[in-house]
Amino acid sequence: MEAVIHHPATGAAAFSPCSPPESLFSRRITDLPRRSKPDISSFLSPSKPKTKPQNLRLSPQFLPSPSISPSKSPPLDLPLTSEPSIKTDLPSNDYSHLLLLSARYGDVELAKAVHASIFKHEEDTYLSNALIVAYLKLGRIDFAHRVFKNMSSPDVVSYTALISDLAKSNRENEAIELFLEMRGSGIEPNEHSFVALLTACIRLLNLELGLQVHAFVLKLDFLGSTYVVNALMGLYSNCGCLNFVIELFYDMLVRDIVSWNTVISSLVKKGMCDEAFESFRDMLRIDGFRVDYFTISSLLASAAAAGRSGMTEGGEIHACAIKLGFESNLSVNNALIRFYTKRGSVEDVKVLFERMPEKDVFTWTEMITAYMEFGLVDLAVQTFDMMPDRTCESYNALLAGYCRNNKGLRALNLFCDMVEEGIELNDFTLTSAINACGSVMQKSTSEQIHAFILKFGCARNSHVEAALLDMCTWCERMADAENIFLRWPKDWERTIVLTAMICGYARNRQLDQAISLFCQGQSEESFVLDEVVATTMLSICGLLGFCKFGEQLHCFSIKYGLLSDTKMANATISMYAKCGRMEAAIKVFDAMLVHDTVSWNSLLAGHVLHRQGDEALAVWMKMESLGVQPDTVTCLFIISAYRYTGSDLIDCCHRFFSSMESRYQIKPTSEHYANLVGVLGHWGLLKEAEAIILKMPFVPKAAAWRALLDSCRVHQNAAIGKRVAKEILHVEPQDPSMFILKSNLYSASGRWHCSDTVREKMREKGLRKFPGQSWIIHQNRIHSFFARDTSHPQSKDIYSGLQILLLECLKAGYVPDTSFVLHEAEEHQKKDFLFYHSAKLAMTFGLLMTKPGKPVRIFKNILLCGDCHTFFKNVSVVTKREIYVRDSSGFHCFSNGKCSCKDQW
Ligand SMILES: [Zn+2]
Ligand SMILES: [Zn+2]
Repeated sequence: MEAVIHHPATGAAAFSPCSPPESLFSRRITDLPRRSKPDISSFLSPSKPKTKPQNLRLSPQFLPSPSISPSKSPPLDLPLTSEPSIKTDLPSNDYSHLLLLSARYGDVELAKAVHASIFKHEEDTYLSNALIVAYLKLGRIDFAHRVFKNMSSPDVVSYTALISDLAKSNRENEAIELFLEMRGSGIEPNEHSFVALLTACIRLLNLELGLQVHAFVLKLDFLGSTYVVNALMGLYSNCGCLNFVIELFYDMLVRDIVSWNTVISSLVKKGMCDEAFESFRDMLRIDGFRVDYFTISSLLASAAAAGRSGMTEGGEIHACAIKLGFESNLSVNNALIRFYTKRGSVEDVKVLFERMPEKDVFTWTEMITAYMEFGLVDLAVQTFDMMPDRTCESYNALLAGYCRNNKGLRALNLFCDMVEEGIELNDFTLTSAINACGSVMQKSTSEQIHAFILKFGCARNSHVEAALLDMCTWCERMADAENIFLRWPKDWERTIVLTAMICGYARNRQLDQAISLFCQGQSEESFVLDEVVATTMLSICGLLGFCKFGEQLHCFSIKYGLLSDTKMANATISMYAKCGRMEAAIKVFDAMLVHDTVSWNSLLAGHVLHRQGDEALAVWMKMESLGVQPDTVTCLFIISAYRYTGSDLIDCCHRFFSSMESRYQIKPTSEHYANLVGVLGHWGLLKEAEAIILKMPFVPKAAAWRALLDSCRVHQNAAIGKRVAKEILHVEPQDPSMFILKSNLYSASGRWHCSDTVREKMREKGLRKFPGQSWIIHQNRIHSFFARDTSHPQSKDIYSGLQILLLECLKAGYVPDTSFVLHEAEEHQKKDFLFYHSAKLAMTFGLLMTKPGKPVRIFKNILLCGDCHTFFKNVSVVTKREIYVRDSSGFHCFSNGKCSCKDQW
C-alpha cells in the first residue's frame, strides 16, 4: 500500500470539477451509532408527533438556522419544560428515543424540551451526543454546536457528528480543523470520523490532504472498513486517480454496492466504457449484487459517451432497468433521456419524456438540452417556457443550446434577460455569453460584454479569461487579445491560453505569429498539444504549403496517439493534399479505421486541387458503393471534378446535378450553380453556362458570373465576357475582386476550425481581403512577396536574377501579355508592373536558393495571372527545372514549356 500513497502525480493533473457523489456517503454518515431502541409508543404525548412532511424531505442545510443571541446558554427560550406529558426523570434511553422521534418528525420543540430536561441533570455524554445528532438532523446547527461547547468531555461520537455535518454544509475547512482539534485532545478517530474527514477532502478536491488521511487510515488499520475504503475510492475517483481506485477496490475485504458503483462510475468518468460494462458484469457474477438506480444511471452515462458500441450496451441497460423495476425511477429516466439524446432519435426522447410518471427540474433541463442537440431550437424554447420551476442550470441549458445552434443573438438576448431577472450567473453562463458574442462577431457588442464581465468581477478565472481572449480574436480585437495573453498569470494553466491565442492568430491569418507562438509553446514544459491546436497548425501548414512542418506534426500526432481522432486524421489528409503530396494524403486516408463525411470530402478536395477529375470521381463511386451519404460540400467537389476529367463527361455532370435534390435531399446552392457554370465554361459551353445562370432559382451571386468570366478568358470569348463583367459590377459594385471566394471554396473542406456559417458571414461582410501575395518555404522559413516588393533582404539579388531570366525568356520567345486585365487583382497594365508580380519574385528567389535541377515550389493566395503562367512555362524551358505553383485554382506543374493545367485554370 505504501506505493499507492507515493505517486499522487498520476492523477493530480486531472482533477475533475464535478461535485462529490453525495449519495455514496450521506446515508451512512448520518447514521451514527445508537444504542438500544425501546418501545416508543408509551412516550408519545397526545399532541405529538406534529407531522411536517415538507421538512422531512429537506436535508439540514436547507432549513433556516435559528438566530439566537450568543449570550444565551443553553438556548432555552421555551416554556416546554413544564409540559406535563414529559416526565423529568426519564431514563437516558427514553430521552434518546424522544430525540430520535423529534428528528424523524422534524419536531424542534420536542428536541428543545428534551434538551431543557437533560440540562437539569448531571452531564451525560451519551445523551448530549444524541441531542447533537437530533439538532443536526433538524437543521439547528448552532444549537448542536452550543451543546457540544458545553460538554466537558466530548467523545469521538460528538466530534464526528459535527465534523460530518460541517463537511456536508460547505464548511469543509472547519470540518478539517475540528478533526485536528479532536486529534489534539487525544481522541482517536473511528471509521465514521474518517468518512467525514474524507467527505471534506472530496468536496475540496484536496488530494494532498486525502493522501495524508489515507496514510493515517493505514496507520490505524482501518482499511478493513468498507465505509472508509469506499470514501477513499470516492476521493480518488473525484481527483481522477483511477489507478488508486482500482487498487483499493481489489484489496477490499468486503465490498458493498457503493464500492461497485464507485469503481464503475470512476471508469465511466475516464471514458473507459468497455471496462465499466465489464465491471458491471463482474458485479452481477462475483458478488451477485442487485444493481441500484445509481449503477444504471452511471452505465447509461457511459453508453451515451461511448462510440458505436454505446447504442447496443445502452439498450441492454435500458432492458435491464425495466426488468429490475426501475422503469419509473426518476434518476434512471433522466439518464435515459441523456442517453437517447446522444445515441438515439428525438422520437425516442419524446416518448420517454411523455411516459415519465414523475419529472423534476433536471428532467425538463435534459429535455431542453436534448432538443437543442437535435437542432430543434423552437421546441427547446417551448419546453423552457412550460417548465414549472427553473434553475440557473435550465437557463444555462438554453443559453448553451443557442450557442450550439449558432443563435448568437438569441443567446445574448437571453443573457441580458438573465442579468435583468437576477438569475445566478456562473462561469458556465459567462463563458457561454462570451462565446455567443464571439459568434456574432460584433466589435461593439463584444466590448460591452467584456466590460460587463470585468465589472461583474468574475474575470479572474482562467476559463472565463480564455473565453474573453477567444472572443476578441473573433471580433477584430487582436490587440486586446494579445493584452490578455501577456497579462496571463504565471501560475495559471498555460495550454488553454496558448491554444486560444494560436487559434486566434490563425483565424486572423497572422500565420507567422501562430507558428512562432506554437514553437514557443512547444519549448514550454506545461504546454499540452491537443487536437484543437494540432488541427489548427495542420491547417496552417496546408494553407502555407509548409510540408516539412506538417510532416513533423503528423509524426507528433502518431507519437501521442492523436491520429485516432477522426478530425485530426482529416486535417492531416487536407494538409498533405494542399502541400502537393497527394500520395501521402491517400496513405493517411487508407490507414484510417473510421471515415466520416469530412474524411471523404478532404480526399475529394485533394484530387480536385490536383485537377485529378477521374480520381475524384473514382472516390465518389467508392462512396456510393459503401453507401456514404454526401453532404453539400461533397456535392461541390463532385461537380468540380467534371472540370478536370480526361474526357468531356458533361452529361454525367448534369445528371448528378439534377439528382442532388431527389436522391440526396441536397438543394443546390448558388455555390453549386457556380461550380456547374465553371464546368460548362471549361468545356467551352459558354452559352449554356450563361443560360444556367439566368435560369437559377435565385438571384445569381457574383461567384457564378465570375466562373463564367474565367471561362470567357480561357476561351477568349470577349462578347460574352463583356456582358458578364457588367453583371459582376452590377452585383458587386464596390468589390470587383472576389477571388477570395474561390480560394475559400477549396479551403472549406479543410475546416478552418470555424463554422461554415461564420465563414459565410465573414465573406458577406468582406471582412477579410488580402492583396495578392506569393511565398516560398525555404529552410523552414516563409519568404513572402507582394508585387514590386523590395522588403526582402536579398531583394537586390532577386531583382537582378529576374532581369536575367526575363531577358533569357524574351530571347526564347516569351511575349509579355497585358491583354487580360479583367482578372487582375494586384497588377496594373504597365509592363514593368507585370514583370515584378509576386509570383515571379518568389519563383526567382526559389531558383536562386535551390540547387540546379531541383524543382521549385511556390504558393499564391489568388489566381495566377496569364502572363506569369506564360512566363513560368518559358522559365521551365530555359532553366530546365520543374516549377510547382499552387494558386487559388489548384496546382500547376510547369515542365518543358508546358503546364499540367493544360492552360485552363
Ligand atoms: Zn502575374
Ligand atoms: Zn497552369
